[in-house]
Amino acid sequence: MTGYDVIIAGGGPAGAAAATVLAGAGVSVLVLDKAEFPRDKLCAGLLTWKTVQTLTRVFGETAASLQALGVINHASDRYRIRHLHHELSGGKLFYPFHFVERRVFDAFCLERARAAGAEVRTGDAVAWADVATATVRTAQGREFTGRHLIGADGAMSRVRAHCGVDTPRWRAEMGMGLEVYLPRSWLAGRTGLHEDVTADFPTIYSGFIDAGYCWSFPHRDRVIVGICGLYHGKPARMIRDCLDEFLAFLGLPKDHGLPVRAHPLPYGNWLSRPSFGRTLLAGDAAGLVEPFFGEGIHYALRTGEMAGRACLAAIRQGVDPAAAYQADLEREIFPELTWAKHLRNLLYWFMRSGMILPVRAFLGGGGTKLQELVHGMRSFRLLRKLR
Ligand SMILES: Cc1cc2nc3c(=O)[nH]c(=O)nc-3n(C[C@H](O)[C@H](O)[C@H](O)COP(=O)(O)OP(=O)(O)OC[C@H]3O[C@@H](n4cnc5c(N)ncnc54)[C@H](O)[C@@H]3O)c2cc1C
Repeated sequence: MTGYDVIIAGGGPAGAAAATVLAGAGVSVLVLDKAEFPRDKLCAGLLTWKTVQTLTRVFGETAASLQALGVINHASDRYRIRHLHHELSGGKLFYPFHFVERRVFDAFCLERARAAGAEVRTGDAVAWADVATATVRTAQGREFTGRHLIGADGAMSRVRAHCGVDTPRWRAEMGMGLEVYLPRSWLAGRTGLHEDVTADFPTIYSGFIDAGYCWSFPHRDRVIVGICGLYHGKPARMIRDCLDEFLAFLGLPKDHGLPVRAHPLPYGNWLSRPSFGRTLLAGDAAGLVEPFFGEGIHYALRTGEMAGRACLAAIRQGVDPAAAYQADLEREIFPELTWAKHLRNLLYWFMRSGMILPVRAFLGGGGTKLQELVHGMRSFRLLRKLR
C-alpha cells in the first residue's frame, strides 16, 4: 500500500485541473487513469469564454497561446440556431467559440499536471474505492491510500459507484450524446450536403429530439455532428433514430459508413452534496454539467480546481474539505445549473407545444445578452450580469 496526500481517479479535465492546483502547491498527488494518453473522449469540443478563463487561471494559457500550441484548432466568431430548417437566431459573436480535439486537449491538460509535479499512472483503472478512508484498488491489483480522494472519473465513475448515489433520479436524468465525425477529406467533393455542414461556424438545432438538441460544429480537420438529450428510459435506438433523421436533414447518405459513437452525458442530475467521507467528486462524476447546452468542460475544469483547492486548504489549514467545496459549489455552480435547468424546461415545453414564436423572440431578442449568458458573463438567473 502506497500513501499520497491526494489520489485523483481520472485524468480528464476535472482530474487534470485538480492535480495541477495541488501538485503546483507542492502537495503529493497521484492521478490514476484507466486509459493510455493521448486518448479520445466523445465530445464536440466547444470552449466558451468562461472555459478559457479557467484554463488561463489553472494552466496559465490564453486562447492565443493555446492556438499557437495547436491545442485550439479552430475559432469561430459567428453562430446560428435553427428549429428544423427555420433560422431562429444567428450572427456575429463578440467573443469567439474555440474548438479543441479532446485527444489533444486532454493530453495537454494531463501533461501540465505532470509538469506541475503530479505522479500520473495511466492504463490502470480504479476498480474499487473506500471513500471513507480515501483508498483505491486498481484493476491490476495495486492499492493506494491518500489523505483525500477526488473522484474525477467521468459520467460512469467507479468512485461514485462506491458512494451509493446512483438513485432512480440520477439514472432518469442521465442523458446520452451521439456523434459522427466527418473528416474534411471525406466531405471534399461531396454533393447534396446542407450548407451548415460546410459553414465555418457552429449551428445548433432544436426539433429533432424532445428534450435535447443537435449540432454541427466545425473543427480544422473535421466537422462534428451530433445529438444529445434525455431519453427517459426509452431504448437507445430511439435517440439513434432522431440522429438518423438529423443526418438525413444535413444531406448525409444513409450508408455514410462513418462510426456513430455514444457516451453518457449528465443532463440535470448533479449531486447536491458530492462529498463522501474523505472523498470529493468533481466534473461528470458528480453530474456537474450545465443542463441546457450540456456544456461540461468548463464545469469539469472549474469543479476540479475547486476540489483541488478544498483539499489543499484541508492539508494546509486543517479546514473541512467537504464544507469548503460545498460552499464554492453553492456560491458559483449550483445556482447556474438550477436556473439553466429552469430555462431549458421552459423552452423545451414551448417547443413541444409547437410554440416556436416565443422561443424565436427570446433567442432573437436576447442579442448580446444571450451571448454573454452562453459565455458565462451573465447568469442563467434572469440574465443578471456576473462579476
Ligand atoms: C457527445 C458529447 C458532446 C459534448 N460536447 C461538449 C462540448 O462541446 N463542450 C463542452 O464543454 N462539453 C461537452 N461535452 C461534455 C464534456 O465532454 C464532459 O462534461 C467533460 O469531458 C467532463 O470532464 P471530466 O474530466 O469530468 O470527465 P471525462 O472527460 O470523462 O474524464 C474522465 C477520465 O476518467 C477516466 N476513467 C474513467 N473510469 C475510470 C476508472 N475506473 N479508473 C481510472 N480512470 C477512469 C477516463 O479514462 C477519463 O480520462 C460533451 C459530452 C458528450 C457526451
